[in-house]
Amino acid sequence: MLILKNARNVSGEKIDVLIDKGIIQDIRLSGGCKAGGVPSVFKTEGKAIGGTSGFAAGREIDLEGKILMPGIIDLHTHMRDPGLTHKEDFYTGSRACAKGGISFFFDMPNTVPPTVSEAALSEKIQRARKSSIVHCGFHFGASNEDNVEEIEKVIKSGAAVSTKVFLNESTGLMLIRDSELLKRVFKAGGLIFVHSENEMIDTAVELNARYGRGLYICHISSRREMEAVIKAKQNPELNNKDHPIYAEVTPHHLFLTESLRSESPRQDMLLRMKPELKTQSDADFLMQAIKDGFVDTIGTDHAPHTLEEKLSKLCFGIPGVETSLALMLTAAHQGLIDINTVQKLMCENPAAIMGLAKKGKLLAGFDADIIAVDPDKEWTLTACDIESKCKWSPYEGRRFTGKNIMTIVGGKIVYENGRFKIDGQDGTDYGNRF
Ligand SMILES: [Zn+2]
Repeated sequence: MLILKNARNVSGEKIDVLIDKGIIQDIRLSGGCKAGGVPSVFKTEGKAIGGTSGFAAGREIDLEGKILMPGIIDLHTHMRDPGLTHKEDFYTGSRACAKGGISFFFDMPNTVPPTVSEAALSEKIQRARKSSIVHCGFHFGASNEDNVEEIEKVIKSGAAVSTKVFLNESTGLMLIRDSELLKRVFKAGGLIFVHSENEMIDTAVELNARYGRGLYICHISSRREMEAVIKAKQNPELNNKDHPIYAEVTPHHLFLTESLRSESPRQDMLLRMKPELKTQSDADFLMQAIKDGFVDTIGTDHAPHTLEEKLSKLCFGIPGVETSLALMLTAAHQGLIDINTVQKLMCENPAAIMGLAKKGKLLAGFDADIIAVDPDKEWTLTACDIESKCKWSPYEGRRFTGKNIMTIVGGKIVYENGRFKIDGQDGTDYGNRF
């Protein structure tokens, strides 16, 4: 049993939270107490416990006014496991998540082998169960060699609920151009996560409206793309209950711009990703779209490569799970966005989109995946802070205001003030697969 005392929620209310058996058992407003302080009392299974005295069996943590949020759910990561584990693996990647405040990540299928068969998916799941210290789920992959039968199998069994489709240039066999095959993939693939840049957004929207059951447009990077998405979202023939459209923006398309690449040859090599960075006015447009309610999620597109790889040849992708929340909290501190919206984009909406009924909200009865953040903590990211196996970040040297200080997954503290509490390499099955 765990009690988190003297915390706040994103609305500023003072709360105490009781956690037991991996579930949020109760949340009590504590600040509303009259002066003199009525001690908060929790009720669980009909028995009153609480205060400092009546509670001995568990741990009580005084959070001194820090903010509690549901754990971040990142729907877009590339953990490189299996096959590319010199860049990242489920152990290092999940530690990076825990540090950054992410309690649940979804992994993309472009690994080696790619996750385009039921067998490859179950192997990946086994690997992740053994080493991830946070919850994880997996997007299945659509192959240009026609794996629709495999897609049908994993969607039917529930091993995956979503299929990633690449409509723009990408690695090897995952780019699909055959329109007949695309129709069948959209029919079979559950929720379709699409890599679609520029005019391919219209193609994806059309396929979803005619054949699909839901479209999640990854990493919208420019004003032009966002305008196309907004137009589609506002059209009830293209965006409706049976064929919803969801829009994802990455932190790097909000907080980095292409002009940074000209700072040095090194930056020019490091700051390359798909889609590429755009201009400040594109980034401003994306932020405005967030404020206007057109963006559903912040997904990191965490795609680590080693520094050696990045500097020796052109590799697309940058790490992101350790910095996404800090970037958004910093934006909140600067008044660019409010923290309620941060919680909506990073916790509530991702849970709803993936059908995770008991996740994404700080409510009694929900899973105890919780983070504590210090919204006023000023800090600078340095290379030695980095948990990701790639050991670099495009945000090194950046000043942040706001930091994750504790990550609780399934009622267990996995990370607290710079230290990891759960090993993840002891072969324990944490049962943390979605
Ligand atoms: Zn990606």
